[in-house]
Amino acid sequence: MGADVATAARLPIADARQVRRAFMRLLAADRGRAIQVLVLYTLAAGCTVAVPMLLGRVVDGIGAGWSIERINLVCGLIVAAVAVQFVLSRLGRRAGYRFGERAAARLREGVVTKVLGLPLGRVEQAGRGDLGTRTAADVNTVADLLRDNGPTVATALIEVVVLYVATFLIDPLLGLCALVTVPPLLLAARRYLRRASGAFLAQRAAMSEAAETLSASGAGARTVAALRLQQERREAGHARAETMYRRFMRVLRLQIEFFLVLLWLNRFQLVIVVAAAGLWYFQGGLSLGTAVAAITVTVRIANPTNAVMVQLNEFQQGAASLARIEGVNLIHVEPRTAVPEGNDLRLDAVTFGYGDGPDVLHGLSLHPRPGERLVVVGPSGAGKSTIARLLAGIDRPRTGTATLGGVPVGDIAVEELRRRVVLVTQEHYVFTATLRENLVLAAPDADDDRLVEGLRRVDAGWAVAAGLDTMLGPEHRPLSTAEAQQIALARVVIADPAIVILDEATAGIDPASAGNVEAALAAALAGRTVIAIAHQLQAARSADRIAVVERGRIVEDGTHEELLAAGGVYGGLWHAWQGD
Ligand code: ADP
Repeated sequence: MGADVATAARLPIADARQVRRAFMRLLAADRGRAIQVLVLYTLAAGCTVAVPMLLGRVVDGIGAGWSIERINLVCGLIVAAVAVQFVLSRLGRRAGYRFGERAAARLREGVVTKVLGLPLGRVEQAGRGDLGTRTAADVNTVADLLRDNGPTVATALIEVVVLYVATFLIDPLLGLCALVTVPPLLLAARRYLRRASGAFLAQRAAMSEAAETLSASGAGARTVAALRLQQERREAGHARAETMYRRFMRVLRLQIEFFLVLLWLNRFQLVIVVAAAGLWYFQGGLSLGTAVAAITVTVRIANPTNAVMVQLNEFQQGAASLARIEGVNLIHVEPRTAVPEGNDLRLDAVTFGYGDGPDVLHGLSLHPRPGERLVVVGPSGAGKSTIARLLAGIDRPRTGTATLGGVPVGDIAVEELRRRVVLVTQEHYVFTATLRENLVLAAPDADDDRLVEGLRRVDAGWAVAAGLDTMLGPEHRPLSTAEAQQIALARVVIADPAIVILDEATAGIDPASAGNVEAALAAALAGRTVIAIAHQLQAARSADRIAVVERGRIVEDGTHEELLAAGGVYGGLWHAWQGD
């Protein structure tokens, strides 16, 4: 929980104005359909209003001695208005759902594209939890809203507006009477939203705390029993349940209060309009038909108003989610446009530290010569992986430069950079897809022969035997760590970049096979520049050159023989590893 909060702070959250703009963008992206929905709903609402207005005419008509035919005609119009209203609202609803569905898809695609375009370092900094919530849960919240409640509320809102306009058209003074309850209603809604959002958050927090306490007691049952903590755990559970209950009751009280206010305002509105219409009618200022029409229209205001109010919370939560989604879109990404000349990769006097932390590299320089196999060794925490990240352009140095072909690595467009430099770490992701799809990611135009050759070169005979159409993934063919690593390494061979950085890339493979895979890979990558971060000195022996890193500095640099002869840090490590 603490980590989540800390990382959440690192991603921006859009403010109200930006959320409004994001919403308008969603509307504008499908402008045609949005207008279609608006027109259909408005026409449908117009039909709804036509019914009481025509009814008023009939009432007045009877008084004025209309012929039966004329009365029948207007009654027929009323029936027609009901039928047309039904059809229009159906069409509107359908268009509304279509609009919502598309807007939801657009939102989802937009945020995923944005996240995929973020620099890897930024994604890691943000934390997967927060980004995951934003791209999944938050997008779902907004998508559900756009799809389901959105169209319902939009219909209701338009109906409310049309009904109020109708009261004015029927009689401006009665319209004003109906409007009397609107300001207190808006005030009550605002007050409710302010208090409810906090109460909802508190309720949800209490629920997850209670669940955590319960599951902790369950998971640690043996410890609880061994240390005789039953009583304490029980009390802790009770306390959490108590808090949960209190917060739940608070939400309920707020809701009941608000809906009571709503109910009374609805009643009050009707009473005022009925009283005013009656008074005017008896004073002769109003026809009976007009009074009937105004009252019937007012009666109808309550339903759609309540429909909007019931959904206020949902919309508030939707806005909060949209603010978090839009926050991702607000992350500024520097355009990367530098074009390298050649494939000379080097670090010059770089210092680097993570976040606001201290430097972990101190003026370090490293220049892998084109075509050489450079192995970087050193104790854990020395900065080896950090060097790999700087070379691969994932992070930028604080001072000094990391350049490829004369331009900063971090300024090169990612697609361009990955054609030249590929970093393989211990983290391998295998997609639930066919083996072919998993491999072709590395080189979209590669044919099957090239894919199979790639697999052979990393010693993945099992994959060749299974066939490129084999579905991979936990539910199809689960892969062991070693197999997943082989797929990742095959991708590198298939992508065929000029420079490969291997950060303990074979660490998950058992030592015996790791040797084979490494030898196969070395052969496959012959002629490329390979920078290998090694956890086992075995790999160092066959290197063209070895760089020894200690506490963020390169302390030794040379061939295996040279370094052994020098009798320095590497010599010590080597002898220790040999068990001399
Ligand atoms: P090595 O690969 O040699 O084991 P690293 O490059 O992983 O060393 O780490 C160098 C230093 O940077 C260590 O002190 C480590 O704790 C720190 N470090 C590594 N990754 C991070 C990170 N993501 N955030 C903060 N500190 C980190």
